[in-house]
Amino acid sequence: MTVSDKKLREAINTLKDSGVRITPQRHAVLEYLLNSMVHPTADEIYKALEGKFPNMSVATVYNNLRVLREIGLVRELTYGDASSRFDCNTSEHYHIICDDCGKIVDFHYPTLHEVESLAEQVTGFDISHHRMEIYGKCEDCQQVETQKH
Ligand SMILES: [Zn+2]
Ligand SMILES: [Zn+2]
Repeated sequence: MTVSDKKLREAINTLKDSGVRITPQRHAVLEYLLNSMVHPTADEIYKALEGKFPNMSVATVYNNLRVLREIGLVRELTYGDASSRFDCNTSEHYHIICDDCGKIVDFHYPTLHEVESLAEQVTGFDISHHRMEIYGKCEDCQQVETQKH
């Protein structure tokens, strides 16, 4: 059994425990997210699955993602535009984002709790969380760049 099979089974159990109905489409969205390392948008998920589910709409994909988010299986990453990205790695981690293609890759680093406590002390805010992103050019885009020259 692969890692993502195990994760999928755990996720399905979480769905069952939450009393959420497991439709074939919901199952497929979850499976796609667990196998995808690039944090897809709802549109990308829709395009990847429409062949399998010709009657599915983007709205259905959104709806499924919302259900998965509400029970904590999926995290939504918003970037101030319409294209939210979805992450089924709900453990603490950071992201590195490609300036060229927009790909988001997980990046593990010890959570910077001290930044939060310092921010709290300095500003008096009640801190809920923080978000740090690193930007650059991914390996694929670096290669494209080299080929052009
Ligand atoms: Zn890239
Ligand atoms: Zn992530």
